[in-house]
Amino acid sequence: MRDFDRARERMVDEQIARRGVRDDRVLAAMRRVPRHEFVSVAQEDQAYADYPLHIAEKQTISQPYIVARMCEAARIQSGDRVLEIGTGSGYGAAVLAELAAEVFTIERHDSLADAARLRLRNYPNVRVRSGDGTLGWPEQQPFDAIVVTAAGPAVPQPLTEQLTIGGRLVIPVDMRNRGQQLIRVTRTADDEYTEETLLPVVFVPLIGEWGRPER
Ligand code: SAM
Repeated sequence: MRDFDRARERMVDEQIARRGVRDDRVLAAMRRVPRHEFVSVAQEDQAYADYPLHIAEKQTISQPYIVARMCEAARIQSGDRVLEIGTGSGYGAAVLAELAAEVFTIERHDSLADAARLRLRNYPNVRVRSGDGTLGWPEQQPFDAIVVTAAGPAVPQPLTEQLTIGGRLVIPVDMRNRGQQLIRVTRTADDEYTEETLLPVVFVPLIGEWGRPER
């Protein structure tokens, strides 16, 4: 077993399973995706560490545990079509691609979208697009699950409208006095949604029409 493979096994056992992620498919996906291929060569030795890392455009690749928690919270089934907002390095999209039938991912920075598309070339079920993800991907809706990896002031309405009935949206929302909280919105009928607060989190800002304004 190579060093990276050993580090990845340890990451899943010690940072993810031990902290309570139970979904076997999520654990298996996290064991499969070579996270060190989604960071710079200078950061490879930290690829399996228990914290987020910086990537280009002052953005981050999320902490592995949070990636796993979000995938578990989205309750992804193997036949699902999934939308991710905030492609970043492409790592989260690769994990989603192991869990779902099709993954559509949107990144607002062209340079990150281009680099991620290249890294994800071995994942034929992933499509990367650059643009404002708060508007969703109307041409490809509806989605069984939507995962947002940046925090906005509220849940963007276009995203809830692009869920299937039964679809789940997992998103960090900035709740002011309570800080950022990870929320799951489930569409239960055409005009009905339930909302659950899952855990406190820290994410970069969601910037766009239904997020924060660009400075
Ligand atoms: N999933 C990523 C990964 O695995 O590397 C983590 C990405 S980082 C935590 C969040 C990303 O969301 C950043 O790359 C940021 O540029 C992007 N972002 C912020 N607002 C966005 C928007 N409205 N549409 C698309 N991407 C957005």
